[in-house]
Amino acid sequence: MHGSGITREIFWNVKGEGFPVVEPLTYILALTAILFLVRGLIKAGLLDRIKMMMLATGSDVSRFDNIVERLKYALIDVFGHKKILREPYQGIAHLFIFWGFIVLFAGAGLDFLQVDIIEPIFHKHFMQGGLYLGYSIITDLAGILVLIGVIMMLLRRYRNMPKWLDNKPEDMIILWLILAIVITGFLVEGLRMQATELQPGDPMHKYAWASFGGLIFALPFTAMSVGALKATHLFVWWVHLFIVLGFFVYIAYSKLLHIFMTPINIFMRNTTANPAPIKAMPPSMFENAETFGIHKLEEYSWKDLFDTEACMRCGRCVAVCPAFNTDKPLLPRDVIQNLRTHLEAKSKFAIDKDGKARILPDEEYTGPALIGGAIEKDTIWSCTTCMACVEACPAYISQFPKLIDLRRYLAMMESDFPEEVQVVFKGMENNSNPWSIGAHSRADWAKELNVPLMSQKGSAEYLFYVGCAGAFDDLNKKVAVALAKIFNAAGLDYAILGTEEGCCGDSAKKIGNEYVFQTLATTNIGVFDGYNVKKIITMCPHGYNTIKYDYKELGGNYEVYHYTEILDELIKSGKLTLKTPIEGLGTMAYHDSCYLGRYNKVYDQPRNILGALNSGTLVEMASNHEKSFCCGAGGGRMWMEENLGTRINQKRTKEAIDAGVKTICTACPFCYTMLTDGIKELEKGESMQAVDIAQLVAKAAGLE
Ligand code: SF4
Ligand code: SF4
Repeated sequence: MHGSGITREIFWNVKGEGFPVVEPLTYILALTAILFLVRGLIKAGLLDRIKMMMLATGSDVSRFDNIVERLKYALIDVFGHKKILREPYQGIAHLFIFWGFIVLFAGAGLDFLQVDIIEPIFHKHFMQGGLYLGYSIITDLAGILVLIGVIMMLLRRYRNMPKWLDNKPEDMIILWLILAIVITGFLVEGLRMQATELQPGDPMHKYAWASFGGLIFALPFTAMSVGALKATHLFVWWVHLFIVLGFFVYIAYSKLLHIFMTPINIFMRNTTANPAPIKAMPPSMFENAETFGIHKLEEYSWKDLFDTEACMRCGRCVAVCPAFNTDKPLLPRDVIQNLRTHLEAKSKFAIDKDGKARILPDEEYTGPALIGGAIEKDTIWSCTTCMACVEACPAYISQFPKLIDLRRYLAMMESDFPEEVQVVFKGMENNSNPWSIGAHSRADWAKELNVPLMSQKGSAEYLFYVGCAGAFDDLNKKVAVALAKIFNAAGLDYAILGTEEGCCGDSAKKIGNEYVFQTLATTNIGVFDGYNVKKIITMCPHGYNTIKYDYKELGGNYEVYHYTEILDELIKSGKLTLKTPIEGLGTMAYHDSCYLGRYNKVYDQPRNILGALNSGTLVEMASNHEKSFCCGAGGGRMWMEENLGTRINQKRTKEAIDAGVKTICTACPFCYTMLTDGIKELEKGESMQAVDIAQLVAKAAGLE
């Protein structure tokens, strides 16, 4: 008994006179496990995969700037489970296991410190008294948290498995290993307690409560003799040790590797303002390069390939993917996993017997192709670029931009894209709009509206960039008209470009035709800069995002606003008063456009405006804010037939129906069109409507 007497003997029943070899043997086994882990990492191909990453030629954004900030963020995210907790059930289960293991690991460290450093060198026993009681309470609590967490995960996987989760044997092995570690750990504690402090007269008897986990597990052994308890304890102790070491080695062969890779990926996350950059191809490439886009794995950036290491197959990206949720052959998780499988397959060809990796000439590679092999074309074209996957991923993996790189190859090298897109490209090239309506009529919507033209005004505080939908699409022309009336009424210093305006190029870029995009973008930038434009208001979130981020890469630097940001300000400052109540709105919900919400975090302004109407009752649909569900039109899908699965716009409209919504409010021309169609397709036109926020504001301001 040491000092205060409130303590326990570490290595009780396994160390001491009878067992002099136990301790060295434990360390030998631990060292062996580390060697097996390293061997496993090599055998499981990690080194080969890293060599392949080093061959990657693609360009990337910076990953090692602001190291302190990156480190701080990664630590907060990893230890605070910032993103994981967005899904409360899985998040809490993971948090319990994560922190439980950290505490148990620290507890084992304290044991090591006591037995192998402090005691032999300083002849002191610090694990006693209050410290020991605290240690005992905290480690038992940690064990119970791990137990709860793993049971929650087992229930989810085997009782209430969501359809987007894929169950592989390794998932079961990992969970059962964790369960076995905790249960054998508590059994070791319970057996020891039953043989020692739970015996009458033991000085620690009155402190047994501090080991409450062990106390529960001691209950079944009350009738056993001390001898039998000791023998069972010794057996379970060894079983526990071997399971712990086995779990450690299994890291190399399973998704447990994410314990290391995911934090590294979080550290290397994209920190540019653009949350999902699809890097511009250098304009010189169009003159010199032999190939555009990506059709071979090595053409990705090293970080694209590293992403495949960080994926833990949690499936959160699948759960939120509108393509998957409407039965299309696109699961963002599988895109990442298939890339990893492809990487492994290709490394077998690219790495020679001496372990040297080289770029493979095409004729030497006879494995499956990247496009059409690892990733099917239907998968590539199913993406709406809604960014829900990127937003949801706790490992900060960039899933869909990898598909855009493949689209670039298909579109620019093979002219292999859905045939209905051909006319869209032609329209953009010839008339600078996807409908191919004569470019001369771009400003017709503004006739008789007293809308100032930049060419007449010379300059203005704001350029109102109307975009193709506002200029040419009948439904959305009404929104452009409403905005012009509002800007006039509020006395905003603005002007439009009229026929000098061109398509922003968002759809061309997302379909993969970077050449058409850059042609359109540089033409617009030339016009903007010709008028010394500094501030731009866009009607369309796609134009907003493109001008804000993609034009910047081509030399266009502007302050860009979506119209909802401007209207919110005008209302707040009193320059715009909404005093006419709007009848018949009923229950209304705002549909977050992907490019306004997830891409640009404009969530509040549209809702503020709707709140200022003092009409209708604002509710939220089940998917809202960063979890909003796409309308189905992004990524150029607006111009493609939706032949696979069910229609995304109908799924979103059904969400509105489920929320009892009468008026779906939009702030994006694509969303407005898709949801108007959704209402028609579901034959709900009698009881529902879609309407753009600008139209409501114009009405409430008495401008219609
Ligand atoms: S961007 Fe949207 S549609 Fe594309 S893979 Fe991600 S979640 Fe699915
Ligand atoms: S890509 Fe991210 S969200 Fe998707 S399964 Fe992998 S870790 Fe999970």
